[in-house]
Amino acid sequence: MIMSHMNGYVQEASGQAKSHRERAVDCPGEELCLVKSPHCSAHMERIQHYQEELKKKREEDSRGKHDIDPNASLRLKKLSQNPKVGIDNPTFEGKEKATKDSCSQEAVVELVDLLQALKWAQHCLTDAQSQQDAELIMQLLAKEDFKNAYTIYSAVSQQMTRVSPNSPLTAQAKDLCQEALMQAHDSVAGQEMSEEDVVEYHGETVKLVRLEKARDTPLGATVRNDMDSVVVSRVVKGGAAERSGLLSEGDEILEINGISLRGKHVNEVHDLLQQMQGTLTFLLIPSSQIKPAPHRQTVMHVRAYFDYDPSDDPFLPCRELGLSFQKGDILHVISQDDPSWWQAYRDGDEDNQPLAGLIPGKSFQQQRETLKRTMTDRSREHQGKLWYAKKNIKKRKKSTSTLSRNTDYDDILTYEEMSLYHQPANRKRPIALIGPTKSGHDELRRRLLSIEPEKFAVAVPHTTRNSRIHERNGREYHFVSRPAFDTDLAAGKFIESGEYEKNLYGTSTDSVRHIINSGRICLLCLHTRSLQILRSSNLKPYVIFIAPPSQERLRTLLATGGTTPKPEELKEVIEKAREMEQNFGHFFDATIVNMDPDQAFHELRRLIDKLDTEPQWVPTSWLC
Ligand code: 5GP
Repeated sequence: MIMSHMNGYVQEASGQAKSHRERAVDCPGEELCLVKSPHCSAHMERIQHYQEELKKKREEDSRGKHDIDPNASLRLKKLSQNPKVGIDNPTFEGKEKATKDSCSQEAVVELVDLLQALKWAQHCLTDAQSQQDAELIMQLLAKEDFKNAYTIYSAVSQQMTRVSPNSPLTAQAKDLCQEALMQAHDSVAGQEMSEEDVVEYHGETVKLVRLEKARDTPLGATVRNDMDSVVVSRVVKGGAAERSGLLSEGDEILEINGISLRGKHVNEVHDLLQQMQGTLTFLLIPSSQIKPAPHRQTVMHVRAYFDYDPSDDPFLPCRELGLSFQKGDILHVISQDDPSWWQAYRDGDEDNQPLAGLIPGKSFQQQRETLKRTMTDRSREHQGKLWYAKKNIKKRKKSTSTLSRNTDYDDILTYEEMSLYHQPANRKRPIALIGPTKSGHDELRRRLLSIEPEKFAVAVPHTTRNSRIHERNGREYHFVSRPAFDTDLAAGKFIESGEYEKNLYGTSTDSVRHIINSGRICLLCLHTRSLQILRSSNLKPYVIFIAPPSQERLRTLLATGGTTPKPEELKEVIEKAREMEQNFGHFFDATIVNMDPDQAFHELRRLIDKLDTEPQWVPTSWLC
């Protein structure tokens, strides 16, 4: 089923060399994305008529409220029409409607009484100024907005008097109050930017949505074509559309600022929106899909284990929204609503990049990598067959199908879930220095050990060779028998091991743990092949890659140290470093390019000190 989904993408992508299925209607700095849905065009006339009516009504409304905050007036009107206004107490639910009706009737009666009293008072007043004042008050009382506000006031005060101040309904009143205040703030803040009217018109529900498209606030939505309609296909986190909560996936956009979208290609819509700024009025047919209740999304933090270039991805549904990243980057995934395309921010980008970007979802990435591998294998197989055919070699045994072999995604690296970890003062993380020979990592380790021996230490290795006269078991080495070494090796107790002159040597996790328990920092110089086992050891290593500088600079540095390597040796160091980075770069927490031994040393110290002062990202599995 998933494959057919993939194939769907493949077909669409191949048929769409010229255009994307979704178009961003507002991307940072340049463009906008939009959406569309299928509905009969007979509604259009009715909707236009409705729009005109609405426009007229708005104009009338605004004429009468110039002396007050125009938004406040609108809000008051909405509030007065909202049955939930006032104290929305579920214990009064059954009586709510009756109470509201009687409240508004009482309020109207009170106002009429007041008006009559004022009229009477006006007759009794003798000076012109007082009469004018009374006239002004009567005008105010006659205004619809004032009547509505007074109705609300009456409803609220009636509810208030019904709740006995001596018997609070809940013990969390203060917390609830604060929460309600925050919610009210958020919704008012949202209303400052956006507004919506939902109207039942000839049995069809249409929505007029007004959004403010500020220069620096992207709209953050994409549109797709559905027959001749333009439909919202994706609402991206962090954009004005998402924050307003007024545009939803599946809504058909009939018009924007009075311009009809029916029959328009998404590219045209994209171009149209690019030119628009300020207030955008969308006429929508809301999606018939039932909206899931808004829930607080939990952010998942991941480290990427592959490079991603959106401009090079034919499957990406909206190119403008793709988020590029590199192997090792930390990504904050804020939405997995679409399992194929997650929404994420790159660590550090959140402040200057309000709109989230699209990244391939984990299983989608695994599937397409598998597909890629299968295709490569098949093409190799095919080429092999051709080669055999050319050589006129008899039928060879049919090999197992590569497709059937490639059903396991485990070795395809995509993302690893990460968490922040702050090392405790008494349990310092071991520092693993990685790099090709001659990159200087061993010198850096020696320098740290000689300058601060009370702070840094190396793990005591195991060996199968006999001890020498001056050596003590547990100081220079742990001297063990070959069978004992082999047993420990088989049990995975060594981070690394090797053979030298027919003797075995190795560093055990227990030796490293012994240093950690002593409160010192264990320094390790390791080969990349040890990284995997070190990571699964629960020692929480901090891995620093010591990279060589340019070939010329490396030659100078080595010459200063008294060695004169051949150019091919220098090339080999650099090539080895490149290979290490290519294959294991995603495991490196930091990289130091060793241009100058003193600078590299200071950078190393800085990174080590930072572990005490700042939390670092580590695989979440380490903390379980
Ligand atoms: P020696 O036996 O003279 O002390 O050390 C001989 C060699 O054993 C060292 O130069 C080093 O290459 C290797 N060696 C020493 N300790 C270790 C260790 O912990 N792991 C590995 N792989 N080799 C070691």
